[in-house]
Amino acid sequence: MAAVSLLPRNDRNNGWFETLPPRLPSAPLTGDVGADVVVVGAGFTGLTAARRLGELRPDASVLLLEADLVGNGAAGRSSGFAIDHAHNLRAKGFGDTAEHERRQIALNRAGQAYLEAAVVDHDVDCGWAWAGKTHAACTDRGARHLDHFTASLDHIDEAYEVFDEAATVDRLGIDFYTRSVHTPGTVQMQPAALVRGLADHLPSNVTLHEQSPVVDLDFGPPHLLRTDAGSVRTPELVLANNGFAEGFGIARGRLVPVVTWGSMTRPLTDEESASIGGDRTWGVIPADPSGTTVRRLADGRILVRNVYSYSRRSRVDGRQRERAGRAHRRSFERRFPGLTHVPFEYTWGGALSMARNGQPLFGELGPGVHGALVHNGTGISRGAVCGKLVAELACGEGSDLLDAMLAMGRPNRNVPSPVIGWGVRMYARRLQLQAGREM
Ligand SMILES: Cc1cc2nc3c(=O)[nH]c(=O)nc-3n(C[C@H](O)[C@H](O)[C@H](O)COP(=O)(O)OP(=O)(O)OC[C@H]3O[C@@H](n4cnc5c(N)ncnc54)[C@H](O)[C@@H]3O)c2cc1C
Repeated sequence: MAAVSLLPRNDRNNGWFETLPPRLPSAPLTGDVGADVVVVGAGFTGLTAARRLGELRPDASVLLLEADLVGNGAAGRSSGFAIDHAHNLRAKGFGDTAEHERRQIALNRAGQAYLEAAVVDHDVDCGWAWAGKTHAACTDRGARHLDHFTASLDHIDEAYEVFDEAATVDRLGIDFYTRSVHTPGTVQMQPAALVRGLADHLPSNVTLHEQSPVVDLDFGPPHLLRTDAGSVRTPELVLANNGFAEGFGIARGRLVPVVTWGSMTRPLTDEESASIGGDRTWGVIPADPSGTTVRRLADGRILVRNVYSYSRRSRVDGRQRERAGRAHRRSFERRFPGLTHVPFEYTWGGALSMARNGQPLFGELGPGVHGALVHNGTGISRGAVCGKLVAELACGEGSDLLDAMLAMGRPNRNVPSPVIGWGVRMYARRLQLQAGREM
């Protein structure tokens, strides 16, 4: 059997997860079992894939294996924006490919809809709110990004509202941004609560095993997967282990392992909250792609996210975490100069696979092996729709959305290691310098 060469080693610094009430996890896999389908990874993609497989094949046994506790992987470490617009909406040349962009948006909206159906059906308590997202700028460069963004939105007839400096200060409370653009079609939620809710309401023919990392694998079919305490044999495998897919020997040399980071303050006191003013909750996505995401949360905490680090082993601890925490501190204090005494309670990282050419790894990857990996920036909504669609593909169910996913390219080849590492680090550094105060 081949050993899986890259495994999640998450810490317990994820603020979303740690601030949830305790929950009894599902039992790890033990003994030697068989299943009609095995899904690896219980993030947005694996949970929606397992859900859809359970719906389409009610007589099949579906096993979902998760290395960690559900909610402590990248899905539950995200900033909780289920975004409708494709992430490259601000990219140059956007207007030339309006049809393509409309398809991207349709995919993301289908992901939002599938998540929302589960949230509504099972009354999942995750603060699911169609709050939209506010792209805010604090520099001339950021303002130019916003101009480009609104021109792109005009081109595809998407709704938005522009706020000048005074109106932006009024809404957000803080005197930092000079202009903002609000688009209505994004959902904000508590991401760890959402994935936990999805995991707790899977169809009855789906069995979830948490704390069950696949450590060895023999591709078949039948495929044989071994965890620490058990094994499972299956004719059909669905890979949804995004940041760790390369550890299965998948798309070797084509995935770029990246970690991005978040921090969360303690809850503000009523006095501290009143000192900011503005709306009680909001979510800001930076005008500059390398800037800082900020959310003001319903429980009074403030979330900050920025910094992408290249990590060949997808590590979320050590010096990189300290460095990210320091960057978050600077970003927080710039935006909230009256709250410099408010500490962060949590700083965490989450691992993702990216591709140099921005293309997904979706579809049939080998005999009896399907995958839905690499979501490039909008992994909540895109991961959800890809999970659903990959299950439909495995069950022979066609659709226009599935055709749209299958028509996309695949990740292109990286330059060899260690050049890729240097390249990504230098690129990230250059983007950070360009972002300036937007960080
Ligand atoms: C700080 C941060 C902020 C982010 N903010 C946003 C945001 O606001 N909006 C957005 O759309 N995206 C955001 N993202 C990206 C988003 O989190 C990912 O794109 C999304 O989680 C991808 O979902 P997934 O299910 O494909 O992969 P994951 O969520 O990574 O799930 C894969 C699962 O596979 C498991 N796994 C891996 N290897 C094995 C193994 N060998 N055996 C068993 N299980 C295994 C992992 O433990 C993991 O739980 C953010 C990410 C981070 C880190």
